[in-house]
Parts: sequence; C-alpha cells; structure tokens
Amino acid sequence: MTRKDIKSELVLPGVYRIVLPLPGKRPGPVNTYLFTDDPITLVDTGTARAYPVLEKALAGLGLAPGDIAQVVLTHGHIDHYGSARFIKAASGGLTKVLAHPLDQQSIEKGREYTLKSTSRFMTLMGVPFGIQAAMAGLFLVFDKLARTVNVDATFVERDELHLGRYNARVIHTPGHTRGSVCLHLADQGVLLAGDTILAHITPNALVVIDENSSLPVAKSQEDFYQSLKKVEALCPKLVLPAHGRSISNLGEVANLYRTTFEARQLLTEKVIRQGARTVYQVAGALFPDIPKNLRFVLEMYLAVSEAFTHIQVLEAKGRVIVKVGRRTMTISACNRP
Ligand SMILES: [Zn+2]
Ligand SMILES: [Zn+2]
Repeated sequence: MTRKDIKSELVLPGVYRIVLPLPGKRPGPVNTYLFTDDPITLVDTGTARAYPVLEKALAGLGLAPGDIAQVVLTHGHIDHYGSARFIKAASGGLTKVLAHPLDQQSIEKGREYTLKSTSRFMTLMGVPFGIQAAMAGLFLVFDKLARTVNVDATFVERDELHLGRYNARVIHTPGHTRGSVCLHLADQGVLLAGDTILAHITPNALVVIDENSSLPVAKSQEDFYQSLKKVEALCPKLVLPAHGRSISNLGEVANLYRTTFEARQLLTEKVIRQGARTVYQVAGALFPDIPKNLRFVLEMYLAVSEAFTHIQVLEAKGRVIVKVGRRTMTISACNRP
C-alpha cells in the first residue's frame, strides 16, 4: 500500500473523509467520516479487508484505531460496519458501537435473513435455481468482507449525538435498509447521508424479506420516498454520502431519483401488460444490460429486489394484481387503462 492509496481530506473543521476500498465498480469506495475532537468518532468503518487502509489513514492524522471513542453506523451493510470489531478490539473494548435498532440484527448476526427465507422469496419471484445457488455463494463471499460486532447502544429518530465538536440529530430514513439513518448537523447545514443519498447512482430501496410471511410486508420503495421528502425538508447545504462525491444540489438529485423511479414504474407496468408474469421476468426487462460476468449474480439480486418494490407500489395504486401461488408469485395488469 503506498501513500497514494490512502485518501483522506478535510471536509469540515475537525472532520476528515477517509476513503476506503470496496471491491467492484458500484457503489464504489466507501466514505467514512472521522471527527477528530472529543469524543473522537468514526461514522461507518469500511469492510474488514479495508481495515489496514483505515489504520494507515488514521496514523497519517496522528491517531490509532484504539483512540476512537465511538463508531456510529448509518446502517447495517458490510461495507459500513465491517471493521468495527477490530476498532473495538484495538481499544480494549472501550469503543462504543452505535446503530439503529432495526439494523442491529444485521450488524450482530451478519445477515438480515436466513438463506432459507431468501431462497423461498427468490423462488416466489421465479428466479431459476442455478442463479439462486450462485446468490447463496455470493452471500458467503460477502460474509468474509465483514466481522459481526455487538451494538453497545441504539439511537432512534430525533436523538442527539455528539460527534467530535458537533451536535448531530438522528434522522431515521428507512428504505435502503429498515434501520438506515442520516445524521444532521443542523447548525452547519450538513447531512451525513449514508447510502440514502448518493450522487452517482440511484440508491437501492432494498426489499425486506420476512422470515414469517411468504411475501415482504415492508414497503421499501414507499419508505424511501418518504425518507427522501424528510431529508429534503431539512434543506442541507452540503450532503456527505457514504459513496461518491459530496452533494450541494440535493433538490436536483432527489428529482432525478423520482424521475428515474417513475420511469421504471411505467416500464414495469408496460412489460406486465406485454406479458411478463414473474418478478424475474420484469427484472430482466427493467435491466437488460446486466453483464453476463462475475457481477451478474449481485446485479440480478438487486434487479429482482428493485422490481419487486416497484410492483409493490403498482399494486398499492391498483395498477397490477399479484397472486401468490404455492411456488410462484404471478403478476397481471389491471384491465382498466
Ligand atoms: Zn448500504
Ligand atoms: Zn454502502
């Protein structure tokens, strides 16, 4: 690792963005944010594999992982909590890990759903077994990118946190995950957005698979729209996302999301009218450019997840009818135009 590989830059007085590598092109490297004043705080950690890079970046700022008093997690994905356990170990267990209770299980157990319920869901979506097996293999690879860690304290909507010299308000923004949060530094007009707002790609409102019911109950896409409105109402001057560049034009970015999602919903309804019957078929039509390479399995998982959340919205609007059979869920268009 050369000095060039370590990227940290000052984004606010006493706050550094440390960029950590993440395999694959999208969503790209992880931005973690280090608040250097008391209590020294790291917002998100990168993966377990990126820990040596984090250590070097901290050393460049005159700090060691054991100096971090608290790790605040924007949500329970591996690229965000992956090395929290190492940081805690470096401090002899003194570092506190904080997260929203709805993502606590992912962070402590490493996975939100069992392979069994994921496979039941994917079967209902019409995903062929070969692809399902590859998805299960992918999850095992993902497991290696993170270490699970116990959450020491949870926070909820409107809680106030001290991050270095700043006060931040917790804004619960479900959609990407159930327990996603943004952190609002109201006095500075700054929002740390996790994966809820990204400039270079539309964030994923990921499906929330239920252990106890055959179809997901949570309405991720609808939740995401509500979260987007909530964040826009804060009118932040600067959004610091967990991947990609900083955002100073939130209104434009939010409008782009809405336009993109509306277009995908229209297309979803169109392909259903043209005869697509399973979510897998809809996903293929929505995302025809999924590469037939190593990324195929992950991209297909995300495509099925997103297609399902659009169908949930269309069903709520009375545009499509969903029928759950014993093995497959079928979709048809409503007759009225
Ligand atoms: Zn994420
Ligand atoms: Zn992420």
